[in-house]
Amino acid sequence: MSYRALVIGEGIAGLAAALAIAREGCVSICAPSNGWRRGSTYRAQGGIAAALGEDDDESRHLKDTILMARGLANREAVQILMEESHKAVAPMLEAGIFEMTNPSHPTLGREAGHSRSRILHAPGGLTGRALARHFYQMAVSHPRIHFVEGFSEKLIIDDQGRCHGSWIRTSSSDVMAITASATVLASGGYAALWQMTSNHPFSVGHGLMLAYDAGAELSDLEFVQFHPTILSQDEPRGEALLLTEALRGFGAHLVNPHGERIMKDHPLKELAGRDEVARAVYEESEAYLTLRHLTPERIYAHFGQLAELLSARHFDLARDLLPVAPGAHFAMGGVCTDSFGQTRVPGLYAAGEVANTGVHGANRLASNSLLEALVFSKRIAEHIQKNLHLPGDFPTTDPPLLHETASDAEILQRLGNIMDKDFGVIRDPHLMNQGLRHIEALQYRYNHRILRLCRLIAQSALLREESRGAHFRLDFPASDVKWAGHLVHSLSMGSQFRPA
Ligand SMILES: Cc1cc2nc3c(=O)[nH]c(=O)nc-3n(C[C@H](O)[C@H](O)[C@H](O)COP(=O)(O)OP(=O)(O)OC[C@H]3O[C@@H](n4cnc5c(N)ncnc54)[C@H](O)[C@@H]3O)c2cc1C
Repeated sequence: MSYRALVIGEGIAGLAAALAIAREGCVSICAPSNGWRRGSTYRAQGGIAAALGEDDDESRHLKDTILMARGLANREAVQILMEESHKAVAPMLEAGIFEMTNPSHPTLGREAGHSRSRILHAPGGLTGRALARHFYQMAVSHPRIHFVEGFSEKLIIDDQGRCHGSWIRTSSSDVMAITASATVLASGGYAALWQMTSNHPFSVGHGLMLAYDAGAELSDLEFVQFHPTILSQDEPRGEALLLTEALRGFGAHLVNPHGERIMKDHPLKELAGRDEVARAVYEESEAYLTLRHLTPERIYAHFGQLAELLSARHFDLARDLLPVAPGAHFAMGGVCTDSFGQTRVPGLYAAGEVANTGVHGANRLASNSLLEALVFSKRIAEHIQKNLHLPGDFPTTDPPLLHETASDAEILQRLGNIMDKDFGVIRDPHLMNQGLRHIEALQYRYNHRILRLCRLIAQSALLREESRGAHFRLDFPASDVKWAGHLVHSLSMGSQFRPA
């Protein structure tokens, strides 16, 4: 079959791109079995930001986004995000996904860094599940979308450097080629390289390295957002439960073991930027989220599904002190794209968390990422429809040798908590150097894709001698104008600094 596009990944970015491209042509989606549940989309708890309140507009949303990005946002990309935000959420409002205050007004939540209440969310609080299910159901019943169970292991690149699809390892371990006019990487971020993470264990940045090996540029890898309130329990990588910021928007407090509010001196209290709250929580020996001062019935009515997840872990959302710690949550860094999701490799696009559109800069504004995935996936589809008229078929020879020296699970086990300890919320130069040496030693032994990405992240964190957004260094605790730009990595040019 000749495909208009191969989409790699079935989170919101992949599904939204596939549905938009399928209006005109056939699409193949490749993802592991149950892939729509094995990524960040399914886990999203807050919702989607859109300036729909009477006291709000896109220019306010834009201002908040740019402010949070700490000097590194691409203004044009943010402007596009704002201009297309209302159109992007309209079909979901029509489909009845979001909680409504009355039949014509959605309920708007408040999250950190937003100057207005503007977070659309599903009833019960687990918005990602509702969105993922909605998009997945539309895609599986679409006659022009074909699902392939498997992992993309290598992109198919011709002698001129153009991408024609991917080699896929199927669930039965065979290797097959899927070729297409366009390839859309939508494989999610890399926050699961850290042991304490809100992400699914598959979010280890495979897509970034597929693109890098094909000639694309990666940038801003040192910027990883740490969420301040992950339920702190001894759990395996990828199983920790996030306690959404919407709880703080609802009035929850962060307290130390003496019951004192951790954020009491900040003008925005618990709704200060995520970077600031994460550092404050990190510096406490123990920190707790509490809703004890609020009415239990209102809490259960608003966050019923989250309360159930907590109850399964023997916590009562309304009555218990909930132990929290910061954990890696969202990757601002990714594959560099233009405003139509194009990477530097012709025929290769990137959407969602794997991409770096420039919207988030050094620090993402909460609930802007689902919106970004929707807006830029649609633009990718438009670009493909207008500009790509190549046949989907491309002759391939025998599959290349694809085996890595060890499984992801083994590499992650060897990596342990190096990223948390040495490249965490507060970065110490001695620990970073030690961490880089550890990673290099592991890489020497295994030369695995995951370790190559860790090394690029470590090098970026060491090179950026300042603190900005999510990247905080003990030895350079302030921002420095000379670092107002991006660290960009590619196979052909190595690592470069590019002024913003
Ligand atoms: C706990 C949590 C809560 C969040 N809450 C919010 C929120 O409220 N609002 C908001 O805007 N953002 C939120 N985020 C961030 C947001 O959910 C993500 O940025 C967004 O869902 C990313 O979507 P995606 O489609 O790019 O990637 P994902 O949803 O991560 O999907 C990636 C897909 O790629 C597949 N995949 C990975 N590697 C391969 C490969 N090699 N081959 C084939 N398939 C592959 C995966 O299985 C998956 O199907 C949250 C994130 C987390 C973890």
